[in-house]
Amino acid sequence: MPDQELGEEETETRVRRARNEVLVLAAALTGISASVLTLTPGRTDALVASGSITMVLIAIGFFVSEPMVFHIEARNESVSFSPTDLPLAYGLLFLSPVSLVLMRLVVGGAALVIWRRPPAFKLALNLSNYAVETVVAVVVLRALHPGDLAITPQTWATLTAALLVSLIASAGTIALAISRFENDLVDRLRSERLYSFLFYLPMAVVVATAAVPVIDNPWFAAVSSSPVVVIWLVLRSHGSLMHRYSDLSDVHDFSHQVGRSEHLDDITSTAIQEVTEHLRASRAALLVWDDRPGSVAAAAGDTELLSIMPTDSADRDWAAVASPDRIEVVRADPPDEEVARRLAGIDVAEAVVAPLADEAGPVGLLVVADRHGASTTFSIEDVSRVRTIARQLTVALRKGRLYVRVQHQATHDRLTGLPNRTLFEAHADAELIEHRQLAIFLLDLDRFKQVNDTLGHQAGDELLVKVAARLRTAVGNDGLIARLGGDEFGFVAAGCDGAQAVELARRMAHVINEPFPVQGADVSVGVSVGIALGPDHGDDLTTLLRRADVAMYAAKRHHDEVRVFEALLEDPQDADRLALLGDLRAAIRQGALDVHYQPQLDVRSGQIVGAEALARWIHPEHGFVPPDEFIVLAEQSGLILPLTDRVLTRALGTASRWRSDGHEVGVAVNISAHSLIDDQFPDLVVERLREHDLPGEALTLEITETAMMSDTERAFQTLTRLGEFGIHVSIDDFGTGYSSLVNLRRLPITELKIDRAFVMAMLEDECDAAIVRSTIELGHSLGLPIVAEGVESTELLGHLGMLGCDIAQGYVISRPLPAAELFEYLDSSRRQGSAVLSG
Ligand code: C2E
Ligand code: CA
Ligand code: CA
Repeated sequence: MPDQELGEEETETRVRRARNEVLVLAAALTGISASVLTLTPGRTDALVASGSITMVLIAIGFFVSEPMVFHIEARNESVSFSPTDLPLAYGLLFLSPVSLVLMRLVVGGAALVIWRRPPAFKLALNLSNYAVETVVAVVVLRALHPGDLAITPQTWATLTAALLVSLIASAGTIALAISRFENDLVDRLRSERLYSFLFYLPMAVVVATAAVPVIDNPWFAAVSSSPVVVIWLVLRSHGSLMHRYSDLSDVHDFSHQVGRSEHLDDITSTAIQEVTEHLRASRAALLVWDDRPGSVAAAAGDTELLSIMPTDSADRDWAAVASPDRIEVVRADPPDEEVARRLAGIDVAEAVVAPLADEAGPVGLLVVADRHGASTTFSIEDVSRVRTIARQLTVALRKGRLYVRVQHQATHDRLTGLPNRTLFEAHADAELIEHRQLAIFLLDLDRFKQVNDTLGHQAGDELLVKVAARLRTAVGNDGLIARLGGDEFGFVAAGCDGAQAVELARRMAHVINEPFPVQGADVSVGVSVGIALGPDHGDDLTTLLRRADVAMYAAKRHHDEVRVFEALLEDPQDADRLALLGDLRAAIRQGALDVHYQPQLDVRSGQIVGAEALARWIHPEHGFVPPDEFIVLAEQSGLILPLTDRVLTRALGTASRWRSDGHEVGVAVNISAHSLIDDQFPDLVVERLREHDLPGEALTLEITETAMMSDTERAFQTLTRLGEFGIHVSIDDFGTGYSSLVNLRRLPITELKIDRAFVMAMLEDECDAAIVRSTIELGHSLGLPIVAEGVESTELLGHLGMLGCDIAQGYVISRPLPAAELFEYLDSSRRQGSAVLSG
């Protein structure tokens, strides 16, 4: 990855620049110290005279105390403690400043090279630091101390001050140098350094206390030094305690971070992040083996490192350095074995190689490379940290691997290895959210049962595995194939239209149709594929799956390979509806639809003034079909226009016969919203009226409130045109559609027809009574006559009359009657002088 290379390159140039800066700093500090030294008065005189033995002893002191330095290293900080202050204190007393500085540099430098072999820039830095601390101590001591040295509190205080300032100066130098590599100086001084400053004063006090008595007798040093050594030992054990503590909390942090997730990928990436931070590694990489030998379950970290790591836990080259329960630091120089050579190849100088394994076997391999910071080589402590981390990590990775396996088992079919229904549905659901267009396929093998029954279950299993493999190859990356159970497979393809889906299905069917070699025999099976397309056949998975299933069964029934879902195929209830629709269409065409008429009574005069035409359909098989049912069907299918025309024509024909018979009775025809928004409708009505030689006033069109409100603009135009011909318009089922008075006023209507629900209940229900009452008042205030339908009793009829209702319709007057019966009814009413009531 180019990004990462750039990042590494950047780090490298930064480090190189920092090293150069440190070299310059060291040179400058050494120069300044040398200049200060040359200006110091008495630079060649010792404060206390002594022999060459003392000189040798001090040199030895410097030499042996050097490796006794120990660091307390917390995450980002390293505090150094060493007993070199003791020889320094003696040197301040018994050596001349020049000798002391030279000795410190020569012996300290030699000790450094021998004990530690630091890189050049670090050696230079340490030497300059020795120069600074020594010269600072000399200057402070000589400035504060005027006369001869004696064992006095004043001498003690002066020496303490000199040592303290020297310690602080030394810490400052180191901090300055480290800051070139790491955080900025101010941060460092403010935080971690504060901690080491706390130790400086007691250290200076103790060392001065040990040194002052020696002024009189150098041999006394042997006794007085011992407390310093004891204190140093205490500090060191405290340091390692602290160290262990910080390690513990680091490791606790680590396992906390790593243990937080169950996903293998999360565990590995968190581990890499934490390991690089804890160990100050430049890079690190982690491999997790799979259960199957030679395959990797997860990998994270530096790609270059990963490229040289083995893909097999049994890799011979790595086994040499990565045997279980051994953690090894491998240096690229000298490249005496393969891993070292590989590390050198990717510019890694040093790496900690940690095999991750437990009793159950190898789990993975962790490689941590190139330490940066104060120390650039991995220490014993680092290795032991890696060991602890490796243990924690092994546990976490085992858990993660188990999780992956459980996940896989929960979402895959054990036999074929294909995704199972759970994963199939989850995947399809996700695809539905992302893509509008998508195809769901259900595949069911033909003749699989025979194979199972005749050749046995084992053969059946073998066949299924082979079918799965062929299907997988056939579809490639076009979608997800899954085994849904038994011999049923599912396939989902996103962004796929009908033609593409059929082509995909044919491809799958093709590979299944080829014979399968099963247990030495050639077995032929076929497949039926059902397809449902989103969003055409549904926009949720349940619907699509059900419809793909319907299509699949249709394919099986008709011995087709592939079937795409059609509305016709849907469940039996819909098939019935569909059949009914066909019958209705035929009935309309053949004129098999009948019309009944229900008379309407003028409440005041007691005369029949009109009749409502109501469609009747006697189905050849089902008998009477309620109009509410077939009207809805007609409205949904577009059959309503021819149906309305039929009823209208029949009703006008009947009405014209009434007239020629001397009955001044109008006819009311129900029309639906479809007619209302049909531009041709008014012309059609006028045409029909002319055909029957009837005036517009003979016809009332009943339109429900809701139909009227569906498109008020178009309704307004249609009604206006109808009104121009004198045709009455009645608002049917008034009171159920919440129309406002304002809207009603705008429309050219001539009548309000109160919904029968209110009328029928008004004697029992106060509320309904109020509605009927106010509707009558409202209608009258608009100048509209009111029709009440559903009048079933004379009591109700009388009540409506009292309320001022104009026209009544209902069983108490007459049920809807066939045309011929209505004639008789009209005749007998005429004979009687008023309408015949049946109640
Ligand atoms: P609607 O327009 O409200 O018709 C009145 C309904 O009330 C009729 O039911 C009628 O039989 C019934 N009815 C009349 N008097 C009484 C009574 O005293 N008590 C009770 N309980 N009911 C009474 P039907 O014939 O079953 O018609 C139902 C609906 O079907 C009609 O309601 C109308 O909306 C629709 N419909 C009927 N024929 C046609 C048609 O030709 N075209 C259109 N578009 N719709 C129609
Ligand atoms: Ca009606
Ligand atoms: Ca009605």
